[in-house]
Parts: sequence; structure tokens; C-alpha cells
Amino acid sequence: MYEKLFYFILILFIFYTLIPFLYSRVLGMGVFKNNRKSNNIAFTFDDGPHPVYTAEVLDVLRDHHIKAAFFVLGSSAEKYPELILRIHNEGHLIGIHNYVHHSNWIMAPWKIRKDLDRSAAIIEGITGKKPHYYRPPWGLLNIFDFFILKDYKIILWSLMAGDWRSRGGSERVRNVLLTKVKQGDIILLHDSGDTLGADEEAPQNTISALKDVLKEVSLRGYTCVRIDELFYSQHQNNNIKLQ
Ligand SMILES: [Zn+2]
Repeated sequence: MYEKLFYFILILFIFYTLIPFLYSRVLGMGVFKNNRKSNNIAFTFDDGPHPVYTAEVLDVLRDHHIKAAFFVLGSSAEKYPELILRIHNEGHLIGIHNYVHHSNWIMAPWKIRKDLDRSAAIIEGITGKKPHYYRPPWGLLNIFDFFILKDYKIILWSLMAGDWRSRGGSERVRNVLLTKVKQGDIILLHDSGDTLGADEEAPQNTISALKDVLKEVSLRGYTCVRIDELFYSQHQNNNIKLQ
């Protein structure tokens, strides 16, 4: 009896979590994670807005005339509306990263949908613009996300630097990014260290590394664009309408 129950739960778990993981993270299906046909790259920042680090990231981006994307938590957007407005006013894209930083593997599909709509309403209430881009925490999707989140474009990444950890300092972040960056990359970084498994002070390294990385990628001939531009350049021949 218990053995049957165990196998039943195991099959449900595989269906809910591991199949979507293979589909999206390994095969890149149903998600956008790079555009290798483009010579552009796109920077993205997760887990904010943060009262200190988000403003510092924005300063660096402004100094380098670069537009990026911020995947924000609805609960933090509610707390720091002035940062959401600044991100928007400075020309960056705002996407959703759930209302709180919980994994879609442990949440029910309807709860995820409800939290997304709540976060979208908060952001739209501040900026006047409804977000259309979504990145699930840790990039983990469940099987239902592909069906009930169809009005959001799901964005993953092709390059990350483990910048949620302080170990190795800004030098490690800089080295990883500059060694691995390729054309069409979507680069994942963090403007908050307040989430589970992250080091609180880690974004200091990200910000310090970012200053050098932005200079160097420009010298290598890459143009930094927002993910919607990177997406558009991949799909413009297919007449896919951007939101
Ligand atoms: Zn996150």
C-alpha cells in the first residue's frame, strides 16, 4: 500500500517538475534563453527591487547608456514603488519574478497565476504599463505554467555568474562573464541578496564587476539591448507581434 503511494507521488513529482525542467532548461522549449543569430547581448537583474543595490545598478547602467531588464518580486515592488518607477522611467524593461521568491515546484498552478496577476497589477499601478515578461525563481517551471501563463513570455538565461554568492568576490563574477560571454547571450545577475540561498552582500560584487564588464563587452563589439529587442530580432521574420 505504502509502496504504491510512494510510486504514485514519485510519478506525479516527475510529471509536475522534472519533465518541464528537461523541456525548458535543457531543451530550451517554450522559453526564450538566447538569440545566437544576434550580435547583441542582454543583461537581466533578478530578485529586486532592493533599497540599496537596485539604485546602484541603475547608476552603473545609466553611466554606460545601457538598457536592461529587471525581474522584480511583486512584494518588493509594493514596498519600493519609487524604484519601480525609476527603472521604468530610465527605459528599462520590468518583468515579474513571482510575488514572493517561492519556487513554482512547490506552489499550485492557480496560486502562481494569482500571484502573477497581483504582481502585474502592482507594477501597472506604478508605471501605467502591464508587464508581459516572466522569469520563475531559479528558472523552475511546473507543467501547468506552459498552459496557464500563456500571456507572459517566459525568459530564462544562457549565462550566469553565480553572483548570489560572495565567495570569489567581484573578480570571480567578472572572470566568469568575460570568459564565457557569447553573441546573443541573456545574462542573469542579481540586484538583491535577500533571497533564500543568497549572500546578503553579494550584489556589491555584481555592481563592481558590472562596471568593468560593460566596458569590456563594448570593446569586443557587443551591443547591450533589452530582452524584448533581442527577442524581436530573432522573431521579426516570423511576424510575431511583440507585446
Ligand atoms: Zn530569483
